[in-house]
Amino acid sequence: MAQSDMSTPLLDPDVQAEQLSVLGPSEQRGASVVCILGSGDFSRSLSSRLLACGCRVLVGSRDPGRLQPGLFPEGAELRTQREALQALVDSGGTLVFLAVYPEHYPSLLGLKPQLSGLTVVDVSNASSLKEKGPSNAETLARMLPSCSVVKGFNVLSAWTLLTGAHDGSRQVLVCGDCPSAKSSVLSLARRLGFSGVDVGGLCASRAVEEAPLQLFPSWKAPLLTTGLLFVFFYLYSAIKYILLPYLDRFENNLHHLALVTVNKALPAAALVVLALVYMPGLFAAVLQLYRGTKYKRFPDWLDHWMCVRKQLGLLSFLCAALHAVYSVCLSIRRASGYMILNAAYRQVQAGVADSWVEAQVWRSDLYLSSGILGLGVLSVLALTSLPSVGQALNWREFTFVQSGLGYMALALSVAHVLFFGWDFAVHPEAYQYYLPPVLVLSLAPPCCVLVGRLLLLLPCCSIRLDKIRRGWESERHRRTEKRRENGDTFGDV
Ligand code: NAP
Repeated sequence: MAQSDMSTPLLDPDVQAEQLSVLGPSEQRGASVVCILGSGDFSRSLSSRLLACGCRVLVGSRDPGRLQPGLFPEGAELRTQREALQALVDSGGTLVFLAVYPEHYPSLLGLKPQLSGLTVVDVSNASSLKEKGPSNAETLARMLPSCSVVKGFNVLSAWTLLTGAHDGSRQVLVCGDCPSAKSSVLSLARRLGFSGVDVGGLCASRAVEEAPLQLFPSWKAPLLTTGLLFVFFYLYSAIKYILLPYLDRFENNLHHLALVTVNKALPAAALVVLALVYMPGLFAAVLQLYRGTKYKRFPDWLDHWMCVRKQLGLLSFLCAALHAVYSVCLSIRRASGYMILNAAYRQVQAGVADSWVEAQVWRSDLYLSSGILGLGVLSVLALTSLPSVGQALNWREFTFVQSGLGYMALALSVAHVLFFGWDFAVHPEAYQYYLPPVLVLSLAPPCCVLVGRLLLLLPCCSIRLDKIRRGWESERHRRTEKRRENGDTFGDV
């Protein structure tokens, strides 16, 4: 980081004054002096941010004389750790940030008397996701029992601290066992322009420490599922349309691997993944109908599946969008040019003047139109999954978009595939080598979902489901519960 960046205040004094004027007097007093132990990257960025927001900053280093001039922004007071803590106490401050690595915490034991009664903010991250035992913050709390340890600010990088969250949307997760210590850290986060989120007691600190290390945690299963489906359909198409014809009659279709086969696998994956978005909802409804209550947990696998529906929907949209781009490119390939020329030549040789086939014209117009509409509706779904757009909708609007339009996108996508394959999917040649066409395979899950949805719309199901979702419980469920209370688990659902 450039030193000039560190020394320049991020906000001009007028803006600082404006920011301070919106804070209550207690907030201004409580957070106006802050001590930071450690003089590394995090400490420098935090000092800049604190100074820009009008705080007094005391930096405690093991050896302040070693720090190069200009390393810290103007206004930061560089002292020994002991002196910095003493100055903090003398000026009525209570907040101490530990900007040192957890392995160096034992070196702070000598400061126990100075730290006593203060709020110590542990900003460390976990070193790996596989760590067992107490978190860094819990270890620190055991080391310093006379301090209030609060975990926080670790989700911010030194860079974010320096540049600040201008729209106030950057979240700072904070947890700790002492409510007043925690609230002063949350106030400081707000004052620095971040949005503080209380995530509970210190027992939540492991999750907070691991938060910056997570790599798309909620995307793993959806990405894996979509990837596997794509690979399956790609290999299936390559075997059926390239490998087997080559082995059978030396037909060389290898050039299909780069574009045509990808464009067969993409829509198939998009369709199946879109069906997977709506399938867990059907399972949940069937389970509720069967159990006769909504007050029973779904199995874990179903819970997890329901939680990744948004990611599955977005991945389905991605595959569908790529399929659209690939399809547009199909006609500009060199291979298409040759194919059209060859077909024209054959037609001339055969003496055919007009190759217009009315049914094929209708078929292509219908499948293109339903495909474009399906992609359009999917785009609306993808847009509403953005938090800023989703938050602007009320519950009914959101349900209409995600469920109503979602089923419409699924139905349009199924129609797109049906129009595309209405003739050749029923021909025996399409089932060469006893393998059904890819589109027939990919149609099975969405058709099951659509039929399931229609069945659930029948009054005998929908009326009962409605009642269950409003809290009604079936007689059978109540009898089962009674038996369970009496210690008889036989016949449990
Ligand atoms: P750093 O640049 O290496 O600074 C660590 C500081 O710890 C040093 O400047 C030094 O200060 C002190 N120190 C070094 N060795 C020590 C020892 N043996 N005993 C006691 N103190 C020692 O590290 P950093 O990037 O600022 O990170 C500090 C903490 O912030 C870590 O826990 C990290 O997980 C957390 N964090 C960092 C970032 C980031 O973006 N950098 C983001 C989130 C959280 P003195 O020599 O002045 O004592």
